[in-house]
Amino acid sequence: MSILVIAEHNNQALNGATLNVVAAAQKIGGDIAVLVAGSGAQVVADAAAKVAGVSKVLLADNALYANQLAENVAKLIADVVKEGGYKYVLAASTTTGKNILPRVAALLDVSMITDIISVESANTFKRPIYAGNAIATVQSDEAVIIGTVRGTAFDPVAAEGGSAAVETVGEVADAGVSSFVNEEIVKLDRPELTAARIVVSGGRGVGSGENYHKVLDPLADKLGAAQGASRAAVDAGFVPNDFQVGQTGKIVAPDLYMAIGISGAIQHLAGMKDSKVIVAINKDEEAPINSVADYWLVGDLNTVVPELVSKL
Ligand SMILES: Cc1cc2nc3c(=O)[nH]c(=O)nc-3n(C[C@H](O)[C@H](O)[C@H](O)COP(=O)(O)OP(=O)(O)OC[C@H]3O[C@@H](n4cnc5c(N)ncnc54)[C@H](O)[C@@H]3O)c2cc1C
Repeated sequence: MSILVIAEHNNQALNGATLNVVAAAQKIGGDIAVLVAGSGAQVVADAAAKVAGVSKVLLADNALYANQLAENVAKLIADVVKEGGYKYVLAASTTTGKNILPRVAALLDVSMITDIISVESANTFKRPIYAGNAIATVQSDEAVIIGTVRGTAFDPVAAEGGSAAVETVGEVADAGVSSFVNEEIVKLDRPELTAARIVVSGGRGVGSGENYHKVLDPLADKLGAAQGASRAAVDAGFVPNDFQVGQTGKIVAPDLYMAIGISGAIQHLAGMKDSKVIVAINKDEEAPINSVADYWLVGDLNTVVPELVSKL
């Protein structure tokens, strides 16, 4: 059985999420090839070749793939799968993975499985449904099994230790239906939200964007934490929407998650309840977040957070 893992990267570095996907692929068992579709991405292919457990790296290096336009990359993957006879295609459950793989499934005329959190056997997987309130066990009899993998459910394989060969993929897939215009990337001095060990999140309770930064930045600075938010805080414009944690935001499972002024709606819990230690700060002792919190502090965040910072 051969498995094609789609590398997530920015043409310069391999995104850590790919290591979690390789870990899921190892649970299935079989030869693991990693496809790097990019432009000037040799350095990414070289990094992928060093990943433990990878037997082959396929590098499709062309300007068409510079910005991961889903239409072009999906067409490329479908061609590679047909040519190489791959039985599985796996990618991270990130915006990029979720943008590309459904198109691959459509091109190959198979169904797909999203958000795999457990590999039960070669064709049986677990995935959350109803915002993580129930877990479905799904079996696929498709000729090609296509799935996105929730990174937080699999410990990453080692980034070093492998010595796979890098092969060049000759064919170029231009779907001809989209072109890259521009991108605006928020530059963060803090760790990336989904990879951070500690996350400090603020909700509607922080009151404003100004107060979010006034109260939460010193805490995040002290802890070296990434910053997150509830959807209510994002919708109110306190912080950009890539801060959002939850069902329709990012899924995180850090060692420590601090939910400050967040009530704990199920859609928020869906994004953070697998965190190892959860701390809630809320003025309402009945707030639902307390039901998943390991520690909770009932109080006004405007006084208790600065007090906490002063004691750290
Ligand atoms: C389809 C769908 C998808 C959704 N996806 C997401 C998602 O991905 N992520 C997400 O977060 N939500 C999501 N939501 C929204 C979700 O249902 C909630 O509306 C949202 O999470 C509430 O955000 P909040 O906890 O910040 O606000 P609120 O529910 O208003 O809670 C604010 C909390 O702050 C506390 N508070 C207020 N002032 C203070 C103070 N001074 N000190 C201490 N505590 C204080 C209050 O007691 C309260 O508990 C989704 C909803 C739907 C329908």
